[in-house]
Amino acid sequence: MTTEVYDTSAGSGVYWGSYQLDEAGVPAGRRQGSKSSRGKGKYKPKGRMVDPVALAEIEALLGSLVPARDMLIEVLHIIQDEYKHLSARHLAALADIMRLPMAEVWEVASFYDHFDLVREGEAAPASCTVRVCTSLSCMMAGGEDLLERLQPYASDKIRFLAAPCIGACDKAPAAAVGHKLIGKASFEQLYNANTEGASDDHPDVISSAIDFESYRANGGYAVLQSLLEGTRSNEDVLSTLDETALRGLGGAGFPTGRKWRIVAGQPGPRVMAVNGDEGEPGTFKDRLYLSSDPHRMIEAILIAAKVVDIDVCYIYMRDEYPEIIALLRREIEKIVRAGLASHVDLHIRRGAGAYICGEESAMIESIEGKRGLPRHRPPYVAENGIFGRPTLVNNVETLHWIRDIIENGASWFNDQGQDGHPGPRSFSVSGRVANPGVVLAPAGSTVLELIKKCGGMADGHSFKAYLPGGASGGILPAEKGHIPLDFGGKLAEEGCFVGSHAVVVLSDQDNMWDAATNLLQFFAHESCGQCTPCRNGTEKAVAMMTSPAPDTELLGELSVAMADASICGLGQAASNPLTSVMRHFPEDIATARKHGREIKPARGTK
Ligand code: SF4
Repeated sequence: MTTEVYDTSAGSGVYWGSYQLDEAGVPAGRRQGSKSSRGKGKYKPKGRMVDPVALAEIEALLGSLVPARDMLIEVLHIIQDEYKHLSARHLAALADIMRLPMAEVWEVASFYDHFDLVREGEAAPASCTVRVCTSLSCMMAGGEDLLERLQPYASDKIRFLAAPCIGACDKAPAAAVGHKLIGKASFEQLYNANTEGASDDHPDVISSAIDFESYRANGGYAVLQSLLEGTRSNEDVLSTLDETALRGLGGAGFPTGRKWRIVAGQPGPRVMAVNGDEGEPGTFKDRLYLSSDPHRMIEAILIAAKVVDIDVCYIYMRDEYPEIIALLRREIEKIVRAGLASHVDLHIRRGAGAYICGEESAMIESIEGKRGLPRHRPPYVAENGIFGRPTLVNNVETLHWIRDIIENGASWFNDQGQDGHPGPRSFSVSGRVANPGVVLAPAGSTVLELIKKCGGMADGHSFKAYLPGGASGGILPAEKGHIPLDFGGKLAEEGCFVGSHAVVVLSDQDNMWDAATNLLQFFAHESCGQCTPCRNGTEKAVAMMTSPAPDTELLGELSVAMADASICGLGQAASNPLTSVMRHFPEDIATARKHGREIKPARGTK
């Protein structure tokens, strides 16, 4: 007997997958001592023995159901949330329950930063975790120094960890206490986090967001209903998207209309995945759209499912946005109850702290409950994605525009651009500007225009350089501030790209070699470890960059090897900041302050 099970205990409506149950409704052969399927007597687990107490504890958390294989990461979250760590005895019990090799459970759990693995005899981590962002914008705002000041006060109750970008660069330095975001964090706030009860593990649902009732009262879901009722055809939508300059705004820039047609042309059944793993340092636009107006994305998912004939969608959200996950769960429950999602099953999947899962094939691996290792292509995910099915992958902001485009037409969208750069773009602007934030501006805007829209440079800073597209998009000097920021074009001629439109502004008070070293350290930590040029190349680059006299010729050769021989975009683009600084700011190398700093291990070598 197979049953479909939803996680109603959490009130989330989250789908848990299919389970094989015996006649009594108990998962067959799950517990020690039950008959093996081969009929050769008592089942005896090989290797590590399962502690019956640990087994009972995990069973108490999961109930009497065996989670499907792809739910492994979701289950690990449940255990981590409950116990604040993953002990070897609990993982052994989980492996037994899910009938997986212990090594498989361990390798998945150890891949993700938000899981704390504790071996036998090791002490559990402190119950309160404070993550201080040390990525570039937060580093410039004092994040690294803040962390250094806090470290001596770590105890068995509270610990302070460096975190890669948590998507709050406009509030730098940003930190997270448990599941609670702290913008413009101060030493006192974080030092007192444990005693002031800020370690709230149950994030509040964002109260300021436009909810289902308000969204619908203002015309929301009318486009979807016109499709469901047949007054608007699928072809109408596809034709409008064909004429619209909407592109993948997670960074790849692939034309959205063409992508929908490609997946629609594949044999069914088809799947959809929403990439909400906004991890590129400097990017926080998806956080803004989801926390203020989530139904634009939800309606677009339902529209895509109807038009492309998709019956299941996975919404993959980064674990750094817990309040958004809570909001989506609440609002999706409402649209299900309203009968608007009867044509598609919606599943929210929680990332677990791995930047590489923003890469679409790595995200798909993670949705399947595995380590986030990018896949070789071809085949492309449009043909062979989640569980081998043709998969439509769209970014949050890309979907955010769909309803307005269908209601208002392609030219409404295209005309918001300028000079051969059609459409509006959401630039996440951070760093040394007076008012960091998301700037909605015409595609092809320049950094000088964006700085002006942010109220100019911050007091006491003069414009020296900028990142046009997050950590991997390169670094350009202020003299090149007139280049239109868009996919391809002049920016590509400079060896840079706009990616997710994360613009980080640097000033005369910043050393560019230090900035590049921070970015390379990020890539060294976030490399999935699958291929040598990236895994060893990023680590070697950091070691050379932090040496007293960096060998720039050798660093140049290393950059070429990484760009040419890495499997995915992370390794291919990781050296962009390094080569940019060697080209435009060679004088900053000798005066960098990072020489001799600690090197973080690569994800695959921890
Ligand atoms: Fe993993 Fe880096 Fe290779 Fe990409 S390039 S597959 S992140 S090791």
